[in-house]
Amino acid sequence: MLSARELQRYSRQILLPQVGEEGQKKLAAARLMVIGLGGLGSPVALYLAAAGIGTLHLVDGDCIDLSNLQRQVIYKTNHLGKSKAQVAAQQLTAANPAIHIHAHNRMADAPWLRRQAGQVDLVLDCTDNLEIRHVINRSCREARRPVVMASVQGFSGQLISFDFSRNRHPCYACLFPPQARSAAQNCSSAGVIGPALGMVGSMQALEAMKWLLGLPVPSLNQLHLVEAETLGLQSLQLQRQRDCPVCGQD
Ligand SMILES: [Zn+2]
Repeated sequence: MLSARELQRYSRQILLPQVGEEGQKKLAAARLMVIGLGGLGSPVALYLAAAGIGTLHLVDGDCIDLSNLQRQVIYKTNHLGKSKAQVAAQQLTAANPAIHIHAHNRMADAPWLRRQAGQVDLVLDCTDNLEIRHVINRSCREARRPVVMASVQGFSGQLISFDFSRNRHPCYACLFPPQARSAAQNCSSAGVIGPALGMVGSMQALEAMKWLLGLPVPSLNQLHLVEAETLGLQSLQLQRQRDCPVCGQD
């Protein structure tokens, strides 16, 4: 049963047939992990906390730098030098004190992720690092947990989800083989426009909520390319690659 306070707090989404009281209970029971609390993780975490996701694990080993504030909207100027995971947890607790928040002030390496991914219902990859993205892909597949991945460079964003609870589905390494990583840049070297992160991060939070609510997830095995400069949106169906080093053997 939802309390009177919960019914009031979440009333605008409970009114929607896609959510309702049953959907709100599913959101309250959900355990999500947000990896990377930068330009994507900021809107993702803010929207998921506001929506009443019951448990959020926030993972980031970085501290807040002055150059982050142009796009990482969960942080304020008086947070400079502090841990992103801890400040984000404080901000989300202030936004919604009724949910459970766990701050992990560390990078998501493979041994840790292998243990932790199985403890949550869904993972959101909000990192800007191709190497960590491949670790998340492999760990979520091993733990059979779904993952919603996104990235933005310049004005261009990408969004794709994988359902690793099912066999014979493609994975991130089918799309971008790990050997291609040396050519990748992150936003510290390439530049990025803030509101494009807001657009793609909002889409990422939305896809996670659809997943929890049992609604169709359009980004499942479909790479969505978001062009903030033209407001263009394209989607490409991803096929499993037989020679994929992660999912090609079974
Ligand atoms: Zn694969």
